[in-house]
Amino acid sequence: MAYQHDRDLNLTYSPEKGYWHFVLYMEPDVGPGSALNGSQILEPSSSPYAAEWLSRLVPCDPDALHVALVGSDDAPKLWRPCVYDDSDSPSAVAGDGCICWQTFRDPETLLPVAAHHYRTVSGNIEHWRHFTCAPLSLRDGERLSTIIIDHDSHMFWVRTDGGTLHILPERQGAGYGSGYSGGGSLELTLMIEKIANSDGYDVSAGILSGAPNRKVRSWVISPEANRTRELTLDQLKFLCQAGIVE
Ligand SMILES: [Zn+2]
Repeated sequence: MAYQHDRDLNLTYSPEKGYWHFVLYMEPDVGPGSALNGSQILEPSSSPYAAEWLSRLVPCDPDALHVALVGSDDAPKLWRPCVYDDSDSPSAVAGDGCICWQTFRDPETLLPVAAHHYRTVSGNIEHWRHFTCAPLSLRDGERLSTIIIDHDSHMFWVRTDGGTLHILPERQGAGYGSGYSGGGSLELTLMIEKIANSDGYDVSAGILSGAPNRKVRSWVISPEANRTRELTLDQLKFLCQAGIVE
């Protein structure tokens, strides 16, 4: 059951201390990521955007958000070291393989990231999968510079005018897609219109209403959008008017 602000966050103000107490209850229902908004899985890929985003992550101790991210079955494993740090770790396999979880935080958004490490003994197969969640919006004052369709990592990114790369804000249960006709491409169509209409300032997840722009929709489901693309704010505006990307 995903977190819902009105239902799950109970605040009590403590006037003598000047801060709020809160209880937050979350329960992952369908595996890692399902308790938090817009779960994302970064599979191993050759994407330079994913590499850029992963490179800025900061290792940290596990906290409640990491527990919510991986779910109750895997939560205890968050505290076990990687084989690289301790060959006797409960997560190590024969002192050389490893099936562990490591925890990070994105310093730009403070969102939690849990990395799942899989390494066979002798290291013939080794990869990391990163679990996190999408932000709900850009930070106040941030403006979109480019939107990125990242075919290699199957992710959608936004780069701000300050140069920061973010996962494209996404609402729970409404992922993005392109190059095909479906719910994901409809979400992307509506988000592109919202960004263009707000001059790049509104990149927030939310219920998007109204009929989609047919020109944008045609482009989003076309083969043109079925590969890695970077679109500037001006290109997005032109797409809304002309249905093509200059
Ligand atoms: Zn490991």
